[in-house]
Amino acid sequence: MYPDTGGIRKTDTLARIGGDEFNLLLPEINEVGDAENIARKIVEHFNNETLTVEGHEIVVSFSAGIAVYPDHGTELSQIVHNADTAMYHVKRRGKRGFVVYEPGMGSNIPAVPAMEHELRRAVGEQQFELVLQLQTDTLSGRVLGAEALIRWNHPEKGVVMPSSFIGCAEESGLIIELGDWVLREACRILRGKLTSREHDDLTIAVNVSARQLAQSDFAAKVLGILDEYDIPGNRIELEITENILMQDIDHAIHQLSELTSFGVQIAVDDFGVGYSSRSYLHNLPIHTMKIDRSFISEIQSLHEKHSIVTGPIAMAGELGLDVVAEGVETPVQLEFLRRVECPRTQGFLVGRPVPVSQFASGTYM
Ligand code: C2E
Ligand code: MG
Ligand code: MG
Repeated sequence: MYPDTGGIRKTDTLARIGGDEFNLLLPEINEVGDAENIARKIVEHFNNETLTVEGHEIVVSFSAGIAVYPDHGTELSQIVHNADTAMYHVKRRGKRGFVVYEPGMGSNIPAVPAMEHELRRAVGEQQFELVLQLQTDTLSGRVLGAEALIRWNHPEKGVVMPSSFIGCAEESGLIIELGDWVLREACRILRGKLTSREHDDLTIAVNVSARQLAQSDFAAKVLGILDEYDIPGNRIELEITENILMQDIDHAIHQLSELTSFGVQIAVDDFGVGYSSRSYLHNLPIHTMKIDRSFISEIQSLHEKHSIVTGPIAMAGELGLDVVAEGVETPVQLEFLRRVECPRTQGFLVGRPVPVSQFASGTYM
């Protein structure tokens, strides 16, 4: 692509550093304006063009940071570092364009870039994996579905849990790309990796974050991915927390209605810790309520009422919703949920999040 944007000279060096990051070394420029001109050409090129890869249109957004010798460093490592800082400055402003490094830029962007940087690379290099956690019929124990949970297989740190990086992915906007990958991967799992009879009608639940739902084309994108893999809508359940649903309820209703008209299931995740108002549940096209683990962990004996759990179950019943109890860890909790007829169970007692190959062979612990 680059040669079409004005040509790379023999003396220039373009190197892929990792993931979607490149360094362009321009040893023969007279002034910083020359570097800016080149960056401008590249940005304009990318902004006016979509790429077609295997029939799919891909929009590439491009951000660049510029640092020059000797103003922004006399050592190569310092120049590269400052160019990187400038690039993150662009990304924070909204992802497209270029900027020349200025001293002080780094102070506005504390430790986050390091993680963002690594995450960006990880997305490019596919260092992510989905693990599956079983959901069973509370009474019979039959397999009903699985929740897909993301893991980052970090080359040095080992497995990194979502609580350590989803926030950063949200903030940087990377969650959009990551979320698309998660849904695609869930579809791939449904398509090819679950061959046991027990998994024939299994639904995979996928977590959706605020930035994803906020996209104006969220529903269209999800439906496009399902179509790509030929997965019927009812094999996928989208888990969205109450707080996210409430951020723009009209938008949520609009997007979710489009999805549910194609059979996609919608679950309210971590129910009880957010707004938990009955009126909003009434207005939203949802199928399932997932009672947060913090309420389930309160169940310690069969003799107490635990209305904090039975209340939502009764309410869900009245609204015609399915219910999943999250974080079921003890036989007492399971027995209680059986007695109060909570339809679905998820938790370490019945299954831990396990690699897909293990799940496929029917080993859920
Ligand atoms: P969540 O969606 O509420 O997922 C349930 C979390 O509870 C998972 O943690 C799961 O491993 C854990 N869990 C399940 N059963 C038990 C139990 O019996 N006991 C205990 N102590 N924990 C249990 P995990 O995998 O660390 O995920 C944490 C959160 O990260 C998820 O909460 C979800 O909000 C987010 N997340 C995970 N994967 C994704 C993803 O692909 N996309 C997005 N946007 N968020 C994700
Ligand atoms: Mg969830
Ligand atoms: Mg949850």
